[in-house]
Amino acid sequence: ELSKRFATDLKANGTEKKRVAIVGGGLSGLACAKYLAEAGHEPIVLEARDVLGGKVSAWQDKDGDWIETGLHIFFGAYPNMMNLFNELKIEDRLQWKVHKMIFAMQELPGEFTSFDFIKGIPAPFNFGLAILMNQKMLSLPEKLQTAPPLLPMLIEGQDFIDKQDELSVQDFMRKYGMPERINEEVFISMAKALDFIDPDKLSMTVVLTAMNRFLNETDGLQMAFLDGNQPDRLCAPMVDSIEKNGGSVKTKQRLKEFVLNEDGSVKHLAMANGDIIEADEYISAMPVDVIKRMMPKPWAEMPHFAQLKELEGIPVINIHLWFDRKLKNVDHLCFSRSPLLSVYADMSTTCKEYYDEEKSMLELVFAPCSPIAGGKTNWIAKSNQEIVDATMLELERLFPLEIGPKSPDGVGAKLLKHAVVKTPRSVYAAIPGRNKFRPSQETPIKNFTLAGDYTSQKFLGSMEGAVLGGKLAAEVVASRAKGMKTQGLKAVQKSIIDSIGPAKEP
Ligand code: FAD
Repeated sequence: ELSKRFATDLKANGTEKKRVAIVGGGLSGLACAKYLAEAGHEPIVLEARDVLGGKVSAWQDKDGDWIETGLHIFFGAYPNMMNLFNELKIEDRLQWKVHKMIFAMQELPGEFTSFDFIKGIPAPFNFGLAILMNQKMLSLPEKLQTAPPLLPMLIEGQDFIDKQDELSVQDFMRKYGMPERINEEVFISMAKALDFIDPDKLSMTVVLTAMNRFLNETDGLQMAFLDGNQPDRLCAPMVDSIEKNGGSVKTKQRLKEFVLNEDGSVKHLAMANGDIIEADEYISAMPVDVIKRMMPKPWAEMPHFAQLKELEGIPVINIHLWFDRKLKNVDHLCFSRSPLLSVYADMSTTCKEYYDEEKSMLELVFAPCSPIAGGKTNWIAKSNQEIVDATMLELERLFPLEIGPKSPDGVGAKLLKHAVVKTPRSVYAAIPGRNKFRPSQETPIKNFTLAGDYTSQKFLGSMEGAVLGGKLAAEVVASRAKGMKTQGLKAVQKSIIDSIGPAKEP
């Protein structure tokens, strides 16, 4: 597999060693640097902020409590991520939870129901059985009506999945006569968990891809929490590995501009602090919305880069609520099935570093939070207080016995403090028809490569996608250094080529 190749056939000998400047210290940039360093190159990661991790970054407030950019879940079906943990020898930092999916009940506030995966039953039967055994969410006829439209996914595989990209989840359901209640019971929470948007906006390919990845592996849907904050528990060991193998990682290094040679290749990086950084190869591991903004003009007119216009990050909000007592909770991720909220977890129970026996800290993903994500309100533009107030009202409705005036003591759990982190542009919005515009890591520029979760790879915008995107970018550079054939450029859609006129590739 790819990880091993960096130490074998992709390994550079002395003369092939390249200095590689990687812009962006999120998981993708760090993974890219880790594998390039293992292949004998000299990567330099340049991160704009004073903290690594990008969308997994976290920092401490004045009380020493950690504030995270997002509540993050690792899945059994994240092969590149699992390899990474094993290679870094930190696999014990993943806190695996019981193999089930837990949903808050819509009609029974405070109650939960679950899909339970039985040990010893192989995929995909364990998933089928988990759904069949749940008596609370769907009736038997509803279950039976749901299965046939999904079968081609298992039989035809990726081909069938890719073809559904023009349909939203809702379009697909209507086309194949799936009962509406499946949407309310399952797809809304799934869509919001996968891409922070509602099923009428989300591409069906996303749901099918996730199901296919998860269903093909017996432990695919099993979930793990990291045992603490990501910068310390995951990014730091990646940095150690990069440095041990001769690379470096620098924070507070913001790229201002790619400076080009006459042939369109990168001459050097002009940094915001006035530094000039020269290298043999350059990689962008910045989010898609940022690279679009930083795109040198001659590149913007090339089809490969022009297709990035079709990709745009979706807003999402991560909320932390510290309560004065322990709430009734489960040691797991919960799907809220509330119109305002996506998944949440009581981190005082699920995560070792945030463990507290006496007080709960809920981390909640607030989505959809703008009209493009399917929401009615543009929450991302609201004040933190308005967002917290709306969340508390929603929690009173979901957990009336514990929060708010209906609880037995007439007050309920008291909110001690809160923290709100807004990410106005997070993972690319996987609305219908986007997949075909995700660019290959290789670009038409001879010394410039793309990394990042949005680049073309078989996982969505996710931590796994970020690690794989970084690894594929490292493969391009390591192959080129050895004069080996690369995978080549991914073909660009005709609509893009037509929109910019005759090809301007050098
Ligand atoms: P990023 O993390 O965005 O990294 C890009 C980096 O580039 C940043 O560090 C940024 O500061 C830097 N940068 C930008 N501009 C410059 C510049 N000019 N110069 C230098 N550096 C620059 N994924 C999952 O798999 N499971 C989950 O449960 C999950 N939950 C999530 C919840 C939330 C609320 C959010 C926001 C995301 C979640 N994700 C989840 C998605 C996951 O976090 C991302 O897909 C992944 O972390 C993206 O990594 P990346 O390296 O591609 O991009």
